[in-house]
Amino acid sequence: LEEMIIRYEKMSDAGQLAAGIAHEIRNPLTSLKGFLQLLQAKVKGRDEYYKIMLEEIEKMEKITTELLFVSKPLTENMKMEPVTEMIEDVVTLLSTQARIKGIDIEYAGEDGAFVYCDRSQVKQVLLNLIKNAVEAMEEPGTIQVKAKKSEEDVCIQIIDEGAGIPEELIQKLGEPFFTTKKSGTGLGLMITKKILERHNGKLSIKRNREKGSTFGIYFPIQ
Ligand code: ADP
Ligand code: MG
Repeated sequence: LEEMIIRYEKMSDAGQLAAGIAHEIRNPLTSLKGFLQLLQAKVKGRDEYYKIMLEEIEKMEKITTELLFVSKPLTENMKMEPVTEMIEDVVTLLSTQARIKGIDIEYAGEDGAFVYCDRSQVKQVLLNLIKNAVEAMEEPGTIQVKAKKSEEDVCIQIIDEGAGIPEELIQKLGEPFFTTKKSGTGLGLMITKKILERHNGKLSIKRNREKGSTFGIYFPIQ
């Protein structure tokens, strides 16, 4: 059972530049997609070419959407937010996708736990991690989400029964664009780390003894 605590580097100028570029290429991408769809409606045949082109444009859209998140400032949106509510919102959002794969998402909460945070950003973190858990599971099963409060922090764990993380890859998680998925962007964990850093929180990644992985996020008590 290994555990690794991810340490943070300061957000670099390169990160800001990436977000800037993402912003600049969004409109041209939308336009490209629109004209491609128009073309497909007018010029028939070669559907497999259109399909590939649209898929590639959608992948670029996904990357730009995720990169834009990196540059969002964390300012006036900091409040005490209820942990249970944030988790429930995200679980609701993902439950259809999970149910299609025969996956139950169980929540064992700690009522009355609050964290001082930007709600939409913490929901983005939960979304990234629970989505990864769903995607990691090839067979029906259960994802457990647990929240625990201690003297120093509030901890939320996401425990899946998926394929698990090969040991040699653990170090690479959270590197921008590192993905093992066919249509992954490899940005989810990078953004997760970034958001946690802004909250003075931390991320832990652990291989479960039997099956799957556990991702833990920790928020300091104010
Ligand atoms: P993406 O989901 O787009 O691939 P992420 O940054 O969210 O990008 O994840 C990076 C990689 O980390 C994934 O491609 C996968 O290999 C691995 N990973 C993340 N979460 C899990 C998990 N719960 N179980 C197994 N592997 C995972
Ligand atoms: Mg992901």
